[in-house]
Amino acid sequence: LKTIEMVDPEIAVSIRRELGRQRNTIELIASENFVSPAVMAAMGTVLTNKYAEGYPGERYYGGCQFVDEVEEIARERLKKLFNAEYANVQPHSGAQANIAVYFALLSPGDTVLGMNLSHGGHLTHGSPVNISGKYFNFIPYGVDPTTGRINYDEVEKIAKETMPKMIVAGASAYPREIDFKRLREIADSVNAYLMVDMAHIAGLVAAGYHMNPVPYADVVTTTTHKTLRGPRGGAILCKERIGKAIDKAVFPGTQGGPLMHIIAAKAVCFKEAMSDDFKDYQKRIVQNAKALAGGLLNRGIDLVSGGTDNHMMLADLRKYDVNGKDVEKKLEEINITVNKNTVPNDPKGPNVTSGIRIGTPAVTTRGLGVKEMDEIADIISSVIKNNYSVDDAKYRVSKILEGFPLYEGE
Ligand code: PLP
Repeated sequence: LKTIEMVDPEIAVSIRRELGRQRNTIELIASENFVSPAVMAAMGTVLTNKYAEGYPGERYYGGCQFVDEVEEIARERLKKLFNAEYANVQPHSGAQANIAVYFALLSPGDTVLGMNLSHGGHLTHGSPVNISGKYFNFIPYGVDPTTGRINYDEVEKIAKETMPKMIVAGASAYPREIDFKRLREIADSVNAYLMVDMAHIAGLVAAGYHMNPVPYADVVTTTTHKTLRGPRGGAILCKERIGKAIDKAVFPGTQGGPLMHIIAAKAVCFKEAMSDDFKDYQKRIVQNAKALAGGLLNRGIDLVSGGTDNHMMLADLRKYDVNGKDVEKKLEEINITVNKNTVPNDPKGPNVTSGIRIGTPAVTTRGLGVKEMDEIADIISSVIKNNYSVDDAKYRVSKILEGFPLYEGE
């Protein structure tokens, strides 16, 4: 930061203010995390200077011997971490990874099943405003309105009726374990590819706290920056037999040169994810999510599906006279960040919503535990019920964070 301050004080000020915001905020956005200093450092290295179109050993530029080492290590670690046959670490983001898979395995107009965005799916799983929904015939499946869980019999029925070329599984806002084995059986019954987007749960999968999709899916995509706690980016794992098609779809299919500094940071993240510390961290994420969910339920707040198996939960606000947009704003005012989120069959739509999504990966990195989760549940429920004072809630947030410093020495 000191170097930036000397060259560009204007940007440095904004970065410093963002650091202050992160330090003073209880971060409950389910898709966010705090990377380690080693991951952070890797992103700011000379590797950013290097063009390396192609893949290790087959580049379109000279001088790639050292970035080849980096990418090879990243690929091997990623394969080992998830027990996969083939890996591509070049996607710039989760969305890029998904688009590359579609480009590799589908033709425009093909029928694909994907989880409904308003039931927890991602934009890239066939939303009409995304290229996936514009170029392919995505048919949505959702969750059962009473249980809040995926109804696999219903998925099977839709698959038999529509005979998709691919079934896309995985979600941005689904608090329960996903049964990849059952989805494989459904995909096999209609001769479809199974693609799993494990972006949200990748860290849990790596540590053994969620079923691993790799043995069941033809191809698995992920982001590297959520529970996996790496740099902002994407990755693809797949069976050896489709590896070359995936590589071609990433480059030259949908991307240019890889971001080698980010790939180095991914490699560092994969190494960290193999450690016992990381396993313990993932265990604590789940414990914290259960504690926070329990704390909200005890205070009368409804959760979609009645709780959580993973790192996140969806509070259903319909019982109270509030919407997701307002609760997100009120929580931000007292230094708690969450995001508004639709609940299944939301009457209010995606801009207002009847829910908030709450996740524990970032606060767990910070060191908060089950005791703090109960206190946070108390604050959040008082905001939902509009039974709080801003000053008092802000003070309580600052007291909780007092014992948990972030990026000291910056
Ligand atoms: N897939 C899922 C399930 C996600 O939740 C997200 C991001 O929220 C993405 C893909 C997209 O990732 P990115 O924002 O890196 O493009």
